[in-house]
Amino acid sequence: MHPSIGGRALIGQAIPRRALRADLLDFTGDPGLGTPSPGAARHRPDHWLLIDEHGRIAGVQPGAQAPGPDWLCEDHRGGLLTPGLIDTHVHSVQLDVIASYGAELLDWLERYTFPAEARHADAAHARAQAEAFADGLLAHGTTAAVVFPSVHAASVDALFGAAQRLGMRLITGKVLMDRHAPDDLRDDVAEAQAQCESLIARWHGTERLAFAVTPRFAATSTPEQLTMAGALLERHSGVYMQTHVAENRAEVAWIAKLFPEARSYLDVYQRAGLLNERAVLAHGIWLDDADRALLADSGAQIAHSPSSNLFLGSGLFDWQAMADARVHVSLASDVGGGTSLSMLRTMADAYRVQALRGVRLSAFKALYTATLGAARALRLDHEIGSLDVGRVADVTVWDWASGAVARGRDALARDLHERLFAWMMLADERNLVTTLVAGRTQYKRRSDDSGAPSTGRPKAAAPPWGADAAGVLGADRGDT
Ligand SMILES: [Zn+2]
Repeated sequence: MHPSIGGRALIGQAIPRRALRADLLDFTGDPGLGTPSPGAARHRPDHWLLIDEHGRIAGVQPGAQAPGPDWLCEDHRGGLLTPGLIDTHVHSVQLDVIASYGAELLDWLERYTFPAEARHADAAHARAQAEAFADGLLAHGTTAAVVFPSVHAASVDALFGAAQRLGMRLITGKVLMDRHAPDDLRDDVAEAQAQCESLIARWHGTERLAFAVTPRFAATSTPEQLTMAGALLERHSGVYMQTHVAENRAEVAWIAKLFPEARSYLDVYQRAGLLNERAVLAHGIWLDDADRALLADSGAQIAHSPSSNLFLGSGLFDWQAMADARVHVSLASDVGGGTSLSMLRTMADAYRVQALRGVRLSAFKALYTATLGAARALRLDHEIGSLDVGRVADVTVWDWASGAVARGRDALARDLHERLFAWMMLADERNLVTTLVAGRTQYKRRSDDSGAPSTGRPKAAAPPWGADAAGVLGADRGDT
C-alpha cells in the first residue's frame, strides 16, 4: 500500500518516472522582510512537476499538457506543491518531553530534557525513537533537518540510520557535554573526540548525510572541549557545527560568569574556532550589533525558533536587526522546547513574534526561509530548497484549506499572498497530502477518515521506561 515499504532502497537506485499535478510554488530569491514582493515567488498554478528515474526534478509543464504514458501520474489538482520544508534546529530525543509544563530554559533542561535524553544510552530505545522522529518529520512535511540527538554515539547511529533508510538529507552529530550535566550524560574530551572521529568516518558524506560538531551550549562544555570541537572542524572540511546561543537571559548571565574573558556569549564560540559558514546557532535572541557583525562575517546562520521562544518565554527574536546586518536566518521547530514538528505552525509563530516587535513577516518571506533560504544558509541550494530542474525531488503537496472556516477564507483571498498567508496561519500537518523524498513517496495521508497518518511502517513499540523514571536526575550547576 505504501511505497516506503519498498522505498528503503538506496537513493541511487532507479525509480519509475513520476509526474505530480498541482499549483507549484517556490522561490527564486529572497522576498525580504516587510511588504510582500511577489517577484521572488514563482507561482505556477495547475502544472505538472516531472521527476526523473534518479529522483530529481526533470521539468515543469502546464496541467493541460499531460505527460506521456511512461510517466506515473498523480493528480493533485487544486492542491499546493512546495519544496520539502527544512527544519534547521530540532531535538530528536525530546519528543517525549514536548509540551512539558512550567519551566524556563535551564530548569526545563534539568527537570525534563536530561532525563529523557539519558534513556538514549539504550540502543534499542534510541533506534525506535529515531524511526518515530524521522517518520514524524515527514508526516509534517519536513524533508531535511539539522538535528540534536543525545551524547550517546548510539543515538547518532540510530538517527543517521533512520534518515539513510528514508533517503533524507539530514545533518546531525554527537552532543558534546563534559560538565554541568548529570553523570550519565557527561562525556570527556578524549572520549568525545574519538567518538566524533569514528562517526565522521562512518557517516559524513554518506549519501545525503552530513556530520555536525555539536556542543550543546557553552555552559555544558569545558573550554578544552570547545577547543577540541574547533579542531574537529578544522580537520574535517564540510562538517557542520550546531549549538545554542543567547536563548534566555539567565543563560546569558551564566555564560558571562563561566567565560569572563569573552566579549560576549557568541565570542566564546568565535574564540574556539566554531563560527563558519556551516555553523547553525539556535535562537540568538540576546545578541548585540557586534555579535551580528561577527555572524555576518563568518557566514554562520541563526536558526530562529519562535515556537520554543514563546513556549519557554525566552524572548522576541529581532529578525529586522539580523536582516539589516545581513545575517542568514533560517526557521526551526526546536522540539521539544517548541511544541510542534510542523514548520507551518513555526512560520505562524514567527509571524506572531515579529508582530510583537512591530515587524510584518510576509508569507512569502516565511515560506522562502523554510525552503530556499534555509538551503542557501546551509550551502545546500544546489540540492534542495526549490523546484529548479536538477534539484533532488524533496516535495510536499498540501490542501490549500481544510475545514469550512479555512475554505471560506481561502475562497475570498484576492491575490496569491493573501491566499498563502491564510494557508500559513490556518493550515497545519492535517493539510499535508503527501511527502516525497528524492522522488519517493515517504508519507501519504490516509484516504479514510480516521485522521491517523500512515507512514507505511509498523508502529514503534510501547516505551520501555516507566513514568517514574523521569525526574530522578538533577543537573549539577554547582558553580552558578
Ligand atoms: Zn534546541
